[in-house]
Amino acid sequence: MYPRLQIDVDKIKNNIKILSELLRKNDLEMAMVTKSYCAIPKLVEELAKDNIDYIADSRVENLKNIAYINIPKILLRIPMISETKDVVKYCDISFNSEVDTIYELNRCAKELDIKHKVVLMIDLGDLREGFFYEYKQEIFKIVEDILSLENIKLYGLATNLTCYGAVIPTKENLQILVDLGKEIENKYGIKLDFISGGNSSSIDLLKSQDMPKGITNLRLGEVIILGKETAYGEYIEDAYSDAFKLICEVIEIKEKPSIPIGKIGVDAFGNKPYYEDKGIIKRAIVAIGKQDIDITSIIPLDNNIEILGASSDHMILNISNCKNDYNIGDKVEFKLQYAGVLVASTSKYVYKELIHR
Ligand SMILES: *Cc1c(COP(=O)(O)O)cnc(C)c1O
Repeated sequence: MYPRLQIDVDKIKNNIKILSELLRKNDLEMAMVTKSYCAIPKLVEELAKDNIDYIADSRVENLKNIAYINIPKILLRIPMISETKDVVKYCDISFNSEVDTIYELNRCAKELDIKHKVVLMIDLGDLREGFFYEYKQEIFKIVEDILSLENIKLYGLATNLTCYGAVIPTKENLQILVDLGKEIENKYGIKLDFISGGNSSSIDLLKSQDMPKGITNLRLGEVIILGKETAYGEYIEDAYSDAFKLICEVIEIKEKPSIPIGKIGVDAFGNKPYYEDKGIIKRAIVAIGKQDIDITSIIPLDNNIEILGASSDHMILNISNCKNDYNIGDKVEFKLQYAGVLVASTSKYVYKELIHR
């Protein structure tokens, strides 16, 4: 079935092994982040067999689908108050920054007679979610609120970097997180088990031995699936970057001009397009579109293919320079970057296939 997202389980396992060894050497636990591939249960099942301490995702729905996998689960995106019932049911730990939501989590946890673990998000300057690190009184206040709740345990602190503000993790900014954790422990006589120092962009700090002592955990998504840390975009030695492959089928091949004929308005997405005149070119259409893929995040394995564009359900390729002679029904393969994996995984029209080398 096509289009097909082919996932090489062993390549991802290899990446996990390399990263878990690197983390263990630095006394760090690993949370495997599954959101980019929608936590496909069969895949998570295989990946979670060893080397992993937590499974983490931003969607409760994904974690609900893998509830049967017996590894502690973290909800990465701070919960919607409307989903708190499912959060306490399907997630052992949730990241939080709003007291109203935490009160509601407490109420739901009480109903189930469980203790739900809460991690406070601290914003070190990337300016997405969390308490701004300079406003300590605000942070102490919520710690006190949490400590008064019967069915919530304050599990620790976490920060997220290199997402909105593209701020890179450093020895200095992560030390702020560690120090804040210690201050809370001393002030309230408690122990915080979990100080999470970021995502795939924190890997570089391990190579340079700059990870502050006291960080206990990293949450890794992209570096596991693409073998690439995200602070500087460097590939991890011996890790695979091609575990995900997209395979599409050719449904039309025609020689046509490279510039549309007629008065140009806006395209299917309301954009005014620009076309370069390359004369008559050989064009192939493959059966996939913007509903299934981010065309800026996929790379043809045949590097003589040029992606010209796509509408909702058709992608147009320039195959004029290909040595390979394409025919109707042939398959065209693409390597994927992060957004490519994300969108293809999310489309129900893309068939997912797990392979073992
Ligand atoms: C998505 C996400 C991650 C994983 O990020 P990668 O860059 O894919 O490693 C970690 N933490 C949070 C809060 C996230 O939302």
